[in-house]
Amino acid sequence: MIPDTAQARLDAIQDRIARAATLADRKPESVTLIAVSKTHDADAIRPLLDAGHRVFGENRVQEAAGKWPALREEYPGIALHLIGQLQSNKADEAVALFDAIHSVDRPSLVTALAKAIDRSGRRPDCLIQVNIGDEAQKGGCPVADLPALLAQARAATLPIAGLMCIPPQGVEPAPYFALLAKLSRDHDVAELSMGMSGDFETAVTIGATQVRIGTALFGERPPLEAQA
Ligand SMILES: *Cc1c(COP(=O)(O)O)cnc(C)c1O
Repeated sequence: MIPDTAQARLDAIQDRIARAATLADRKPESVTLIAVSKTHDADAIRPLLDAGHRVFGENRVQEAAGKWPALREEYPGIALHLIGQLQSNKADEAVALFDAIHSVDRPSLVTALAKAIDRSGRRPDCLIQVNIGDEAQKGGCPVADLPALLAQARAATLPIAGLMCIPPQGVEPAPYFALLAKLSRDHDVAELSMGMSGDFETAVTIGATQVRIGTALFGERPPLEAQA
């Protein structure tokens, strides 16, 4: 059951995060809740802002550009995370709009983002998305290519903050979260963006520092076919 006010939904999720963190002997404040507001309009988002939440995730540059500049005028201190795939020709727009980009997954995008960052002077946190199940259709850098992509990103002085993954659907996610956590230790990056509405507690016990939660905060999204 999803409680019926934004404040209650937020409190319930924060409680669950805190409980999972405590179980794993971690501080609840070590986990950032990214409220994934994709497909939801400003009127749906405002109650969470009014409840004090400030960290949000969007998966499309265009959609985010349409709703967040006005909300930012209204509510100071918003941090916006891009969690969806990014085309290189939108790198400038993404760097201008977002405070973190979770979907860095290929050499051409590293190059485009490095240029966009140089031009703008803005330095959003960059996370490398890892295709942790090595699935054919999925975005993300193949696990085997991660060392080379990280080396390229570091040479380009991209502000690499951590790793992100979306585990395969319909199977136990814990082994995939554990693999991402191991990769983050091996490569000495701090942030671990993993865990969604269905599995965030598992992710937190395995070390997630950022969880991306949509449905459990906003309710069900319209089916993909109905989205613009
Ligand atoms: C939509 C989305 C989420 C949120 O998913 P829920 O299951 O609604 O919590 C998290 N991460 C990414 C990359 C997404 O696209």
